Amino acid sequence: MNTIIPAADCEYFEIKRLIDRLLARYSFLSCRSIGRSCAGRDIFCLSLGKSDEHVLLTAATHGSEHITANIALLFAEQLCAALEKGGEIAGIDARKAMLGRSLLIVPLCNPDGCEISVKGEQGAGYMAGKIRRLCGGDFTHWNANLRGVDINHNFSAGWRELHQLEQKSGIFGPGPTRFGGPYPESEPETRALTSLCRENHICHAVALHTQGEVIYWSYGEMQPPHSAKMAEIFAAESGYALDVPTGLAVGGGFKDWFISEFSRPGFTVEIGKGQNPLPAHDLYRLFGDVLGLLTLSVIM
Ligand SMILES: [Zn+2]
Repeated sequence: MNTIIPAADCEYFEIKRLIDRLLARYSFLSCRSIGRSCAGRDIFCLSLGKSDEHVLLTAATHGSEHITANIALLFAEQLCAALEKGGEIAGIDARKAMLGRSLLIVPLCNPDGCEISVKGEQGAGYMAGKIRRLCGGDFTHWNANLRGVDINHNFSAGWRELHQLEQKSGIFGPGPTRFGGPYPESEPETRALTSLCRENHICHAVALHTQGEVIYWSYGEMQPPHSAKMAEIFAAESGYALDVPTGLAVGGGFKDWFISEFSRPGFTVEIGKGQNPLPAHDLYRLFGDVLGLLTLSVIM
């Protein structure tokens, strides 16, 4: 594939450089920072289209799932290319797909966690010593942010119940994964997303994770209007299974918060199969799995 976005593990400055290249190539694409990580790295939000009806795509909330940043950026690139020439994406007329819609993409929700997973000790900066102790030297599988809080356990949706479950599972403080923080929305990365959603009308949100080839679409008993049908369409398009989270995967997540806060559809898509981090050379195949799903999410 001859693309700007490479099938390679990218550190933060590489992601920033790739976004700059996309912005230079496609004048109708814009980007702003919606907040800063614990280490002061920008949390970028790409924007396509002029409508006030936004679809939100998020990625790389977990450090070891950094390949999803490349997938989100590759989707932005392919959609821009199709829009520029009036062509198709996933067999769908791109300009028609974007009629009355705009797309917000936050490709790197957890820049510090991804930096730790990609670059190891060097990526942890001034927290390197503490993070080394917390992960036992296994930086690659780090999922949390710089303070050892799992962003996807830090949202205000069943946070207290999840907190109790974390403690029952022996999670009492910062670590590589699954610690929900001292209180909901304690982390700047979490607040960047909640502010974005509160300040814009988001019709529905799709959060990209790895792995499992599974789509989650409900939160407890909450099933916003149209979400079951949309989930079925996503599943049919991608070949991924629909599932319901259990145990430590219930509550605290972005999808859960989005559904409970707005009563609008929110989805978690677990891309690919294998052990995180999934290999970078599989990028284009994994992207192919979800290209149709992502394109349909813009239209629906
Ligand atoms: Zn994840």
